[in-house]
Amino acid sequence: MCGLSVIPRPGTPVRFNHLPLGFLSLVILLDSKAQQTELEWISYPPNGWEEISGLDENYTPIRTYQVCQVMEPNQNNWLRTNWIEKGDAQRIFVELKFTLRDCNSLPGVVGTCKETFNLYYQETDSEVGRSLRENQYVKIDTIAADESFTQGDLGERKMKLNTEVRIIGPLSRRGFYLAFQDVGACIALVSVKVYYKKCWSIIENLATFPDTVTGSEFSSLVEVEGTCVSDAEEEADNSPKMHCSAEGEWLVPIGKCICKAGFHQKGDACEPCGRGFYKSSSQDLQCSRCPAHSFNDREGSWRCDCEDGYYRALSDPASVACTRPPSAPQNLVYNINQTTVSLEWSPPADTGGRNDVTYRVICRRCSWEPEECVPCGPNVGYSPAQSGLVDTYVTIMDLLAHANYTFEVEAVNGVSDLSRTQRLFAAVSIATGQAAPSQVSEVIKEKVQQRSIQLSWQEPQQPNGVITEYEIKYYEKDQKDRIYSTVRSKSTSATVNNLKPNTAYIFQIRAFTEAGYGTYGPRLEITTKEEATGSIYCCVTSVFTFKFPGTKTYIDPETYEDPNRAVHQFAKELDASCIKIERVIGAGEFGEVCSGRLKLPGKRDVSVAIKTLKVGYTEKQRRDFLCEASIMGQFDHPNVVHLEGVVTRGKPVMIVIEYMENGSLDGFLRKHDGQFTVIQLVGMLRGIAAGMRYLSDMGYVHRDLAARNILVNSNLVCKVSDFGLSRVIDDDPEAVYTTTGGKIPVRWTAPEAIQYRKFTSASDVWSYGIVMWEVMSYGERPYWDMSNQDVIKAIEEGYRLPAPMDCPPGLHQLMLDCWQKDRAERPKFDQIVGILDKMIRNPNTLKTPVGTPISPLLDQSTPDFTAFRSVGEWLEAIKMERYRDNFTAAGYSSLESVARMSIEDVMSLGITLVGHQKKIMSSIQTMRAQMLHLHGTGVQV
Ligand code: AMP
Repeated sequence: MCGLSVIPRPGTPVRFNHLPLGFLSLVILLDSKAQQTELEWISYPPNGWEEISGLDENYTPIRTYQVCQVMEPNQNNWLRTNWIEKGDAQRIFVELKFTLRDCNSLPGVVGTCKETFNLYYQETDSEVGRSLRENQYVKIDTIAADESFTQGDLGERKMKLNTEVRIIGPLSRRGFYLAFQDVGACIALVSVKVYYKKCWSIIENLATFPDTVTGSEFSSLVEVEGTCVSDAEEEADNSPKMHCSAEGEWLVPIGKCICKAGFHQKGDACEPCGRGFYKSSSQDLQCSRCPAHSFNDREGSWRCDCEDGYYRALSDPASVACTRPPSAPQNLVYNINQTTVSLEWSPPADTGGRNDVTYRVICRRCSWEPEECVPCGPNVGYSPAQSGLVDTYVTIMDLLAHANYTFEVEAVNGVSDLSRTQRLFAAVSIATGQAAPSQVSEVIKEKVQQRSIQLSWQEPQQPNGVITEYEIKYYEKDQKDRIYSTVRSKSTSATVNNLKPNTAYIFQIRAFTEAGYGTYGPRLEITTKEEATGSIYCCVTSVFTFKFPGTKTYIDPETYEDPNRAVHQFAKELDASCIKIERVIGAGEFGEVCSGRLKLPGKRDVSVAIKTLKVGYTEKQRRDFLCEASIMGQFDHPNVVHLEGVVTRGKPVMIVIEYMENGSLDGFLRKHDGQFTVIQLVGMLRGIAAGMRYLSDMGYVHRDLAARNILVNSNLVCKVSDFGLSRVIDDDPEAVYTTTGGKIPVRWTAPEAIQYRKFTSASDVWSYGIVMWEVMSYGERPYWDMSNQDVIKAIEEGYRLPAPMDCPPGLHQLMLDCWQKDRAERPKFDQIVGILDKMIRNPNTLKTPVGTPISPLLDQSTPDFTAFRSVGEWLEAIKMERYRDNFTAAGYSSLESVARMSIEDVMSLGITLVGHQKKIMSSIQTMRAQMLHLHGTGVQV
């Protein structure tokens, strides 16, 4: 094989990767030279073409076909190749190498010798056998020699090899035969090579282009789509394409692939970014090192993760460092000006690596105990803003005077909201200073006469302290110099005297407190009356107010000689036309109680209760009726029923009170038995205690504090009501004559008040304890059906009401404290409010322990439970006789067996109403306590 060039075997293309553009590539279908054995082509007639072995120019053995019938005329010698399968090819190249004898060099052949031969082909889908039919062949060309055998100068024969290439196509069958027709020449076919051209698979611009056969036409270009190599993607709108030319060359590359995020290009492939590197987008060329405070520990990352405590804001690109929330602002200083606080600070030491730091302020108002701070709410103003502050200062306005505040200034940046670490802030606690009262704006002209004007007004919305005085400034409207005069008043009304008749005056009022004068309210123009004779002024409303700002002492209306004066001292006279009665809601001692609406000029109309005095009243009844208004009118507290006014100058005489939608507390609780949480009940009790604290501070003793005399509004706010002096005796159906002769609501009244009429705030505290019991038992009657005498006796002997069902022990203890025999030992209302507030703040203290303790406080001599002879009698006494059959059916026939019942037992009887369960259970507990006392026997539950 030495010296034989390496030529691919026919039909087996050699794959060259990374062929440079323009490289010609051939697929050989037939190469006669490469064949070592006989070709065995068909030759016809037998004396024509002849297969002969020889040597090529390199002396390599080859197979040739020769013919040389030059002496005989009319030669027609055919030689046909074996069947050639064409494969993908459309255009086939046929390359012939041959030698041909020059006819001139052959003596005696003139006329018969030829110097050409013909080339034919026949297309078929398969081999067709060894017969040869001329007419089935298509002529490709007549081949003539460029060179021929000639005699050399020195007489030696020189062989001249001719090479001719012909192209056939487009071909449509699976294969073909080539045929050579000799018509009388002297030829040696040295080599026949058949091939087609192909563009070989190539990777260009990270896209793979497959092997592609050239087009059928000489000029055609075949467009080929590339496929991205792994981990690469097509560039947007620029998919990779190339063109395969007829010559088997790749031409005109268009578009490209690029390495995906996390990968970069290395040669013709995409390789993953190494650890600690990333490539966020396919558009980026190179992998980059992870930015500061970020890392990754896997290859092929498109991003780096932030270290603990560092974050990337949503808008941060992957290429920037991870950052963290800033540290706290520094050097926070403040400045207080009355109720305005300005804060200033320096930027944080650490901005967290960002330049988008802003600041926000959190304002909390604190009570004197440091942990009790509440958000300042929307009434506080911030300038320039509360958050998003770019500069390092803020002013906070409209704070309350004399209040404690805490301000936290926090620096925030783009990653603060992502951080779960503790907030860092600078804080200051500040107590606001004194502030002057706000404007006096609601001024009413009460009475205008020739020489005097009577004005009244409302306390300013923000007194910011105790108002000790008002200043009324006035001047004649048309006077050029505007010389002011001033009048001072300690109350919210004043009469300005010594005015000129028929003259316009301008009035302005301001309030004065320890902190100084507030600003003047709006100007009010009033013209005095003309100096006429005999005209009677008729005014719609008159106000008789005399308040005691700061001093706040209750004045007993009885001390007034003229009770009418008393009522007008404390109550506003209303015009009956301002009142609309809608319906009757109850019956009072002196007449019907109605609901309706009150519309005062310039004010919103409000719901009111209207107590009327029935017709045919006596003067004493009228006085007693209005007495309540005289008392109520002196009070102003959210837990004391508010008096709107009275109508005394018309009929019927009326007392107009704020409307309390839910009526009296005892009925309200019975109606909603078991429906409130302990916190809600304690909230009600707290309200009542606060109202009573106010009344006792005013020096007022109620004497008839009971749930029936507390009213409840739609917000569950409880307000103390029913004020009267003689009313305790006359009005209250619970009041009975005691042995000492007084008429007293025994069950609610402290022993010293029953015995020697010692009514004090301390006896009100006793009654308050009973109200607590009423509330916690949802309106149960204190001491149930015990007689008043028995109650007095039991109390005297030291027995006290047991804790109602589910009553937290702390509350029962407070009741017991209110029922101390020695009144000096009882808590003050102020302390009661404090204790209840603490309970509300720490609801854990209100948890009822499982199995409410049995109280041994009821008198063993009370016959109520132990005296019952049967279960039926007992049920009747507690008004639960409807369950008699349930008890019988379940086998509870004796009171002893009943006394052992648990709440589950009661429920198992089919008693589903929670209120009834509680009532029965509470009664069973008392019964059990009594039995324990009587027999000294433990009743096991
Ligand atoms: P008195 O004469 O105050 O006991 O009132 C009799 C009844 O009228 C009370 O038990 C309440 O049901 C009802 N009542 C009294 N005042 C008001 C009020 N301000 N709002 C709603 N109902 C009231």
